[in-house]
Amino acid sequence: MPLLEVEDLRVAYGKIEAVKGISFTVDAGQVVTLIGTNGAGKTTTLRTLSGLLKPLAGKITFDGEVINDIGAHKIVAKGIAHSPEGRRIFPRLTIAENLQLGAFLRKDTAGIQRDIESAYERFPILGERRHQAAGTLSGGEQQMLAMGRALMSQPKLLMLDEPSMGLSPIMMQKIMETIEELKSQGTTILLVEQNAQAALSLADHGHVMEIGTIALSGTGEELMHDESVRKAYLGED
Ligand code: ATP
Repeated sequence: MPLLEVEDLRVAYGKIEAVKGISFTVDAGQVVTLIGTNGAGKTTTLRTLSGLLKPLAGKITFDGEVINDIGAHKIVAKGIAHSPEGRRIFPRLTIAENLQLGAFLRKDTAGIQRDIESAYERFPILGERRHQAAGTLSGGEQQMLAMGRALMSQPKLLMLDEPSMGLSPIMMQKIMETIEELKSQGTTILLVEQNAQAALSLADHGHVMEIGTIALSGTGEELMHDESVRKAYLGED
């Protein structure tokens, strides 16, 4: 049984249907990526899986339970963490406080402290600057903080929305290496990316979204070699 199963999901903003019946699954331990251009419906899909938007139709099953109608904080408790587009860290709070907030549903103080320490090990810059306001971090460092914060809920599924957005090539490389490392540690990841090359090279499966639908699916490897994907998303002619 897959960890996450999305069946014929439809999501609308008023009369505008942004997601028009998509289906895909994520198995435990896999990295699955949704790629596609601006406005294809990738962020809408993640926000719906997080419980921030209500589906118009379809079925979302996570860890054996239908989660269509349960609220966002219950979804976090079920084990889905979302690192949103634009990072959304709290700039005036310290790095340590931002990490603490990711553990808002947990009561195991010692465990929380241990996980904060592992975030500092994973991202030394966060440890060095733990008492500084998070707004002083660079874009790439804020992305590290957003990922570290999402991991603080000890998720079964980590959803990352465009982690490479606006980053320098070096920082992007670092973020992709971190995703690779999380994968090797067994973290299940649903990755939304506009950088198709980077996403496909580390994904087990990928889906190409086009105006609210899934136009093409395959393994990361297959999609990377698919001619239409190469033309449309990998900048080849
Ligand atoms: P991006 O990479 O730009 O975030 P995306 O693939 O994630 O693209 P979505 O953000 O999910 O796409 O947007 C899908 C469609 O829904 C777009 O046509 C967008 O204009 C529309 N949309 C998104 N948010 C809203 C909103 N709050 N109200 C109305 N329409 C919206």
